[in-house]
Amino acid sequence: MVDIIIVGGGPSGMSAALYALRSNKSVLILEKENFGGQIANSPRVENYPSVKEISGLDLSDHMFEQIMDLGAQFELEDVLGIEKKDDKFVVTTNYRTYESKAVIIANGVKHRTMNLPNEEKLVGKGISFCAVCDGPMYKGKEVYLIGDANTALQYALLLANYCTKVHMFTLFDRFFGDQILVDRLLNKENIIVKHNMNLIQYVGEDKLEGLVFEDTKTKEKLECNTDNVFIAIGQIPNNEKFSNLVELEKGYIITDESMATKTPGVYACGDTRKKEIRQVVTACNDGAIAALSTVKYIG
Ligand SMILES: Cc1cc2nc3c(=O)[nH]c(=O)nc-3n(C[C@H](O)[C@H](O)[C@H](O)COP(=O)(O)OP(=O)(O)OC[C@H]3O[C@@H](n4cnc5c(N)ncnc54)[C@H](O)[C@@H]3O)c2cc1C
Repeated sequence: MVDIIIVGGGPSGMSAALYALRSNKSVLILEKENFGGQIANSPRVENYPSVKEISGLDLSDHMFEQIMDLGAQFELEDVLGIEKKDDKFVVTTNYRTYESKAVIIANGVKHRTMNLPNEEKLVGKGISFCAVCDGPMYKGKEVYLIGDANTALQYALLLANYCTKVHMFTLFDRFFGDQILVDRLLNKENIIVKHNMNLIQYVGEDKLEGLVFEDTKTKEKLECNTDNVFIAIGQIPNNEKFSNLVELEKGYIITDESMATKTPGVYACGDTRKKEIRQVVTACNDGAIAALSTVKYIG
């Protein structure tokens, strides 16, 4: 039995591990794909304090090295469920079960994708899910954006500050975000909105070279030559499997300020939580708090 099992090896899970290990607790991290989480997909991170510019992969490698030096245990396994049995937790993966005194859920989110051919290959090579992160790379250029709700509206306003034009495409004939954002957007001359447009194809094999849209009303096709597109069509949390232990809102885990969930001994941190800002630095912040709360719980 270990002291703490952490579900997910992204920035929040690794930060939690760092703080727990430095408090002399034994830590097992279960990661289903690869360490680093979403940030490993980012070619350039420019908003993590202390490093002017670093690739997401290098940043996560540094985090991983740091926790391994402190004695973290890890397994590449998919956590399928967690149960509380008396005062311990039984964590079931696709391979086996583990026991711990406490659990930290740091399983992040997946960005909703367009589900088009070649999409996975072109992420980081023109396709981006994060304007805050990748937008500055396109300063002084024209950018393309897909989406119609608050994240997309915020991305459009942000990009319009430093890009010459923001071409924004929505699937329906209106926006679904806050009116105040819509009003601001409509006042920006360099944001060009095209409603009723469905992205049907990415052009390019090894890097993005263009986008093909279909007008949902006229069925006419529109091909745009571009080396970039920001996809802001929502995120998908994946927490149903933990709903026996945690309360969910729109799929996100509800915690208090100490990252505690409704079940004593179960904490959650990072993008998987119900919160406003999902960034590496906020994920790390959550991870540190979750770990120290967990250490206090274990005693
Ligand atoms: C392309 C891209 C670029 C970005 N660029 C930036 C940037 O420049 N700056 C910035 O601050 N933020 C950026 N972000 C956002 C940032 O990556 C996230 O906010 C951050 O990674 C959240 O960390 P996390 O640990 O909470 O979750 P995640 O990074 O999502 O990590 C969760 C981990 O849990 C694992 N996991 C999920 N379910 C299970 C399970 N059942 N069992 C085991 N493991 C599981 C996943 O495989 C994943 O590795 C970017 C995001 C993307 C997609």
